Amino acid sequence: MIECRGLHYAYPRSEPLRLGDVSVAQGGTLLLRGPSGSGKSTWLALAAGLLTPAAGEVVVAGQSVGALAAAARDAWRARHIGFLPQKLHLSEALSVADNLALAHFAAGLPVDRPAIAAALGALGLGELAARRPSQLSGGQAQRVALARAVLLRPRVILADEPTASLDDDACAAALALLRRSAGELDATLVIATHDARVWQALPHAQTLAFVVAQPEPAA
Ligand code: ADP
Ligand code: MG
Repeated sequence: MIECRGLHYAYPRSEPLRLGDVSVAQGGTLLLRGPSGSGKSTWLALAAGLLTPAAGEVVVAGQSVGALAAAARDAWRARHIGFLPQKLHLSEALSVADNLALAHFAAGLPVDRPAIAAALGALGLGELAARRPSQLSGGQAQRVALARAVLLRPRVILADEPTASLDDDACAAALALLRRSAGELDATLVIATHDARVWQALPHAQTLAFVVAQPEPAA
């Protein structure tokens, strides 16, 4: 479940961004839809507790995110949020399997090798466990990032422009994997996108429309 009300965020020296209200049931799908620069990534960062709102509230899986102290927020995010960022943040210093183990470290949990093997297997990545990220195709690297995002069985999956650099077949495959992963976990799925293929593929998903804020006319 995700609910946000009256959410505003202000970057330094910028007009505050006003983000629309929305309520998504547990297990539902929400598309954040709008042009580049309209605030979609900011919304995801607020929902993940990576940014703190200037006003308003976002409640994710029963937790008011802004109410958590900074240290508690990192642990909460690691346990409950599966974040698939636009830039994948896979470490080239680590194998694919050890990149997944980062999710355990971030949550303060012991590394669970069988769970890592199962998560890689579920996304067709079992053969690639020992590779480095640079030895993967773009689509494989994204699946590794998804495997890491869902490893701890999060209540919410947040995906930022997951289809941006994919051709049509890979786009359909990525969306199918996101939906399957969310479905298996009964997780709420949020996809931020300016890609028309995504809303064409998910015509029944709930939508939050974003628009680029116009400057206030001078009085
Ligand atoms: P989207 O994901 O829809 O492209 P963003 O949430 O990234 O939009 O950005 C929303 C607005 O906030 C844009 O005007 C962008 O330039 C601005 N913005 C984003 N990140 C920063 C930042 N770190 N500092 C200042 N402004 C930012
Ligand atoms: Mg963005």
